[in-house]
Amino acid sequence: MESKNWIGGEWFVPHGEEFIVRNPSEMSHEVGVVHLSPASDVFRAAQAARRSLPAWASLTGAKRGEYLYKIAILLEQHIDEVANLASSEMGKPISELRGEVMRGVHLLKYYAAEGVRSNGDVIPSNECDVLQYSVRVPLGVVGIITPWNFPVAIPIWKLAPALICGNTVIWKPAENASLTATLLAELFVEAELPAGVVNVVMGRGSDVGDALVSQAIVDAISFTGSTSIGRQIAVKCADRNVKFQTEMGGKNAAIVLDDADLVKAVPAILSGAFRSAGQKCTATSRLIVQQGVAPALIKEITKAVAELAVGHALDATTYTGPVASQAQYQKVLSYVNLANTDGTIVAQGRSKVDPYSGFYVMPTVVSDIDADHALVQEEIFGPVTTLLTVPDYDAAVELCNRTLYGLSASLFTRDLSHALSFLNDVSAGMVRVNQETAGVEYQAPFGGMKQSSSHIREQGQAALTFYSQVKTCAIAY
Ligand code: NAD
Repeated sequence: MESKNWIGGEWFVPHGEEFIVRNPSEMSHEVGVVHLSPASDVFRAAQAARRSLPAWASLTGAKRGEYLYKIAILLEQHIDEVANLASSEMGKPISELRGEVMRGVHLLKYYAAEGVRSNGDVIPSNECDVLQYSVRVPLGVVGIITPWNFPVAIPIWKLAPALICGNTVIWKPAENASLTATLLAELFVEAELPAGVVNVVMGRGSDVGDALVSQAIVDAISFTGSTSIGRQIAVKCADRNVKFQTEMGGKNAAIVLDDADLVKAVPAILSGAFRSAGQKCTATSRLIVQQGVAPALIKEITKAVAELAVGHALDATTYTGPVASQAQYQKVLSYVNLANTDGTIVAQGRSKVDPYSGFYVMPTVVSDIDADHALVQEEIFGPVTTLLTVPDYDAAVELCNRTLYGLSASLFTRDLSHALSFLNDVSAGMVRVNQETAGVEYQAPFGGMKQSSSHIREQGQAALTFYSQVKTCAIAY
């Protein structure tokens, strides 16, 4: 397979730099070739998106919804093809990727239905004979920049609300999700989405992504990725007065109190920490455990982690696959080395396959680490979680909040008053009791506090607020 750009309804292969994609589960397997674009392709895409804007924006919401619904049906029909390709491209286990594709299908159907929902309010006027109301209108051309860790769901949770609100789009996928992006674009073509409504440009963030943010004539940018890049993008957008949304990193904690039900807590902790090889912005990367339950929890976790199926992402029984790339592998291994030198490894997984055949990092739980250590404060984005013990609930919440990030947090308890206090006391955009830190449903607002977000939510109704602007209308009669 080869990546291609899709601009103004035409396919073409850019003649820039190219690289071979190797399957992170099995480096000897060449999955395809990615062709990277020059920045000039972004300007071409911006012109195409601008040209198709009036016709797309003037369609009824019902008609735009029909296109989204058609894409949803096609995506579901191609679930195996999309999940296999994405899993081979970035290493997420196939069982999870099938779930991710279905999330994309549900998101498309959810936003398709928004095309015929009420849009705006009637606001009583102080004058007689005046009808006053507000209506949501499109922003215009929207630039969408996505990461590789959810190569299907994140693009769709941006594209679907952008399109239903009447915007046209330039989408710059992550470099190592470009093959999957090409396949998704093929489904948009099959759904007969009008030319130029979505334009897909493959390329490096530092040139194509930056040209989209800094130079292309766009009306909004929606970015998901690391906090460092997101903050740079926010500055550039603010300088141009381009509306922006940045969803960024996390360092999410799961707190386990003495009264927790470990039968429920342990699987939720494993899933939060080690599914997707810990490469979720909402991954559980800190465990904060009350002293009384710590010995029992550590015993359970040590046993369970040793039994996790670590292996090839296309094996349906795999729980933890490889990390996505060489860069990820080196970065995550540097944290594992720190865990070995500066802490105590209390649990570690074992691979079912040759660990050197791909980018395999064993699931690891490390304790005896200072709360200000890099392992506890930095986003590792791999299957490594730290375990800290605390005397009581107050100390747990203090540690939970002692981070730059504020994406998600969980508490495991049977005590209703601690559960309710926790939902109030924690500075995170998504707070969950007796549930893992990951897994917020598509119809609910998604986003973080502090350095995790520019504070505008995605998904659910919240996304419609970002992808539209409000016009206040008044008619005297
Ligand atoms: P990244 O920041 O390196 O890249 C994200 C995207 O931005 C890619 O498409 C990349 O090409 C592009 N990019 C890079 N430099 C750019 C620039 N200067 N200008 C414009 N675009 C640029 O992140 P990543 O490694 O792809 O993804 C992992 C990160 O994403 C983690 O920090 C993770 O927490 C975060 N993430 C956050 C959420 C969320 O909703 N909060 C969801 C998923 C991932």
